[in-house]
Order: sequence, then structure tokens, then C-alpha cells
Amino acid sequence: MLSISLEDFYKENSKLSIDNCPKCAKKVELVFSDYSIQLDRFTIEVKELPQLECTNCQHRFLLENSKIEILYLYQECKKNNKLAIKKQSIFYLKNC
Ligand SMILES: [Zn+2]
Repeated sequence: MLSISLEDFYKENSKLSIDNCPKCAKKVELVFSDYSIQLDRFTIEVKELPQLECTNCQHRFLLENSKIEILYLYQECKKNNKLAIKKQSIFYLKNC
């Protein structure tokens, strides 16, 4: 069975899907940093969300799973009629 850290897992998997910057086509790397976005009328803040950052132009974009997490929080806001949500990323186990 394959056993790697979550961070390595993401590195591996990001290589399969997207490993180049959509803007300048240079290499991107995994970063964990705070992320906030306003989607419609909802403000979503996630601490240490995994993202991909270009080593050349610093352009950041979301991993597929991070995107899913944001969308999930968005749905939570909508369901509970909350205008803002602030959370630790569910991927916070990166240090294990
Ligand atoms: Zn770039």
C-alpha cells in the first residue's frame, strides 16, 4: 500500500492534473495559506487552504479538492443563512 504524507500526496496528484501556471506556464508548487473569497453575498475564509502557487509570477489557484471545500462552505452558508464563515481547512492534518 502506498503511504505518503498528505502534502506529498497533493504534490503527486497535482502533477498529474496541473503542474504549470495557467498564466505563464512555469512550474507551480503547493502552498498552504489563508484564503478568503466572497461568493455572491457570502464571505468565506479558510485557514491554511492548500493552493498552487506559480514559482515565477506568484499567481495562485485552487486545487480541485480546495475548490470542493470552498463550494461546500458556500452551501453551508446558504443552508444556514449565514453571511460569513471562517474555518480551518479540513486539510489541516498536513503536519502529521
Ligand atoms: Zn505564473
